[in-house]
Amino acid sequence: MRKDGAGVLLREVYERLYAAYGPQDWWPGDGPIETIIGAVLTQNTAWTNAKRALERLKEAGAMSPAALRALPEARIAELVRSSGSYNVKARKLKAVAEWLGEYGDDPAQLARREAKALRREALGVYGVGPETADVIVLYAAGLPSFVIDAYTIRVLERLGIEPERRSYEGYQALFEERLPPDAPFFNEFHALLDVHASATCRKRAPLCGECPLREVCAYGGASAASAGGLASAPRLA
Ligand code: SF4
Repeated sequence: MRKDGAGVLLREVYERLYAAYGPQDWWPGDGPIETIIGAVLTQNTAWTNAKRALERLKEAGAMSPAALRALPEARIAELVRSSGSYNVKARKLKAVAEWLGEYGDDPAQLARREAKALRREALGVYGVGPETADVIVLYAAGLPSFVIDAYTIRVLERLGIEPERRSYEGYQALFEERLPPDAPFFNEFHALLDVHASATCRKRAPLCGECPLREVCAYGGASAASAGGLASAPRLA
């Protein structure tokens, strides 16, 4: 796939999704610290389970790095039980809280770093993988780093947009090498892809007939062609 072709298609995808769903103004969690804690808790579990754990941390007055550092790991594990793998997650939260302590527990200090340098550093913290690191960089520090998740990959694959490498960083490069490094834009694009994957491009039985992307989608175009509709979806060469 040509780089310029993918960039043009990604922009068209964004415009179509924005026109269909409108601004998402999406911000996970209530403030940067809750966003970071939530990103750890939601690893390998549904958001509803992570949300329950967040609520318990809040009720216990433990929604701050200082409180997490002060609490025994076993107590944190008890509080986050609903998020699954709770002993491991408690250890991860401790490690993240220690790291945030190096920034004075102040997310504004994270924002003073360069995005890629902050991402690399976050990846060195126990329990922080690529998606969690990008959530920290984009949503907590407000710096440009495109967040990739299963929803994003599903939509890209169906559209026929393939990365050079099928890895987290490969999918991320699709966006970051072709679009301007603009944190609010990355935030909005990621939110639009998620809402689209959840509402229309569903895992089973995607609603291609009412999809705002069907004219630029390989999967939707092929479905329509086989049903006697669109001849074919545009392909990038
Ligand atoms: S046309 Fe179908 S497969 Fe393609 S993006 Fe839309 S819902 Fe998903």
